[in-house]
Formats: sequence, structure tokens, C-alpha cells
Amino acid sequence: MSKILIFGHQSPDTDAITSAISFSYLQNQLGKVTEPVALGEATDETQFALDYFKADNPRVVTSVADEADEVMLVDHNEAQQSVSDIDKVDVLAVVDHHRIANFQTSNPLYYRAEPVGCTNTIILKLFKEHNIEIPENIAGLMLSAIISDTLLLKSPTCTKEDEDAARELADIAGVDLESYGKDLLKAGTNTSDKSADQILNADAKNFPMGDYNVRIGQVNVVDVQEVLDRKDELLSEMDKQSQENSYDLFLLVITNVLESDSVALVFGDDRQKVADAFDKDIIEDTLLLEGVVSRKKQVVPVLTKALS
Ligand code: MN
Ligand code: MN
Repeated sequence: MSKILIFGHQSPDTDAITSAISFSYLQNQLGKVTEPVALGEATDETQFALDYFKADNPRVVTSVADEADEVMLVDHNEAQQSVSDIDKVDVLAVVDHHRIANFQTSNPLYYRAEPVGCTNTIILKLFKEHNIEIPENIAGLMLSAIISDTLLLKSPTCTKEDEDAARELADIAGVDLESYGKDLLKAGTNTSDKSADQILNADAKNFPMGDYNVRIGQVNVVDVQEVLDRKDELLSEMDKQSQENSYDLFLLVITNVLESDSVALVFGDDRQKVADAFDKDIIEDTLLLEGVVSRKKQVVPVLTKALS
């Protein structure tokens, strides 16, 4: 019998990688033979968590059907975010906190979806439901995912359940939530060794809005100015990529993870429409977005409404 592989989405974030690890541990305790794998390299932030809690980096795979018949998905369900040959394997289980779209299976499966801020908040419940104790280091990884997905409990996606889960996991892991949380978020904010392309696209998605094709990237920092110092370089890269990919508007949301504010660098002929959407003025190519940290909840809906 081949191992069951467990993985999160492509371009994995901390939740994608650590929920594969924590869910695999739980499944193995329950008698399954599973291995957590990843659909991409760990980010600096995820690597910090893995090092801190002395966990192994999951093996990176680009296909699974050559080595496994069965898989379990965490932190995603949509086929285009999953492994390239997902249609060739049996999906036994999904644990996720996203919308369900472009997902189908030929066999019955275990599916657990809850509208919380992080997959590991759901996995904590699963540990409790099965009466399985969580080892210190796994608790630390799960905590790291909640901190990452909720920006230390400050994102509007964060629920009371995420907060309670974070405090409980911090206790088990033996770390101080606030100080570990800040260290973890800071670890993912180094932009000095990144190219303009990496800063723009490491976490970027396309959104069709009315007649507009809008590209929105987001980068977490502790010093917004460090990115704005490279504004000319970033704008010329946005110009180039907009021509190549037919983007009508390109936004880079630069989020200060300690202050919970953002500044958006805005490129495109109709960028005044972006400014109008937020009822702000563009000053030196940027919009000040006070209190904005979530692209999903605070940027996309505002722009979609204005451009559609
Ligand atoms: Mn994720
Ligand atoms: Mn997540």
C-alpha cells in the first residue's frame, strides 16, 4: 500500500505547509500511513517557524500520481490551486477554510470546511474530537499558521475561534503569543534580497472586475519605506508586466504587519478610479489605506464594486 500524501495549495503559505504536517500527524495517530508534502518551497516566514520548532521541511512535489493513489487536501480545494495531476488520484479528505469551487470527486470523501481564519484552527478541533494529544512542536507550527493567516489576530478574517485556538496552542507550545507572533511576521518581511518581480508577484492574484483585468499583489513588511524606496523600479516592472499580460490595473498592497495599515502602489491608465473607490487621493503614485490588511475582505470587494 502506498502512502497517502497530504498537501496544501501551490505557492504555499505557512498554513498550507503546517496544516499538511499537523493533519498528517493526526492521521498517523489514527492509524493511517501518510506523509505531508508541499507544492512549493517554504517562504522565509514558514522556514522561521519550521526552524523554531525543529520540524523537517516537507518534501516538495510537482506531481503525485506516480507515487500515490490517495491524497488528502488541506487549506485549499480548487483544482487550479492544487497539484497538476489531482484528477488522477483519489481525494480521501479535505480540511479547508476557503470557498468551495472547481472541486469534484468520483468517490465519497471526508470534507470539513469551516468559515474560520485558518485551517489549523479546524485541525485543532479534530485533535480534540479524536482525543489525540498535540506535541509541543506541532502545536507551535499550528500556532504559526494562525498568526500568519490572521496577521497576529488583527485581520478581519480572524474569528473568536481562531483567537481561542491561538492562545491554547501558544500554551501547549510554551511561547508568548505576542512576542513569538511578531518575530514570525517579521521573519517574512525581508525584501532587500528580493527582485521587483518577486516583491510584486510572490503573493499576487488576478481579478476580473467589470471590463478591467486587475492584478493585485500584497507584500508584508515592518518598514513600508523600504519598499517605497524602490518605487521607480517597481513601477517600471508593473508597466512591463501589464503590457505583457494585459493588466489594466496593477496594485501592490504594501502591508505593515505591526501597524496593521497598508499603502498601495497603483499603476494603470485608470488608476484614478482606484483612488475614487477608496475615496482617497493618489499621492506620489500611492494610496494610504489605513486599517487595511486583508486583500480578500478590504481591497477586492471595494474595487469590484467601483469597477463593475
Ligand atoms: Mn493558505
Ligand atoms: Mn489558510
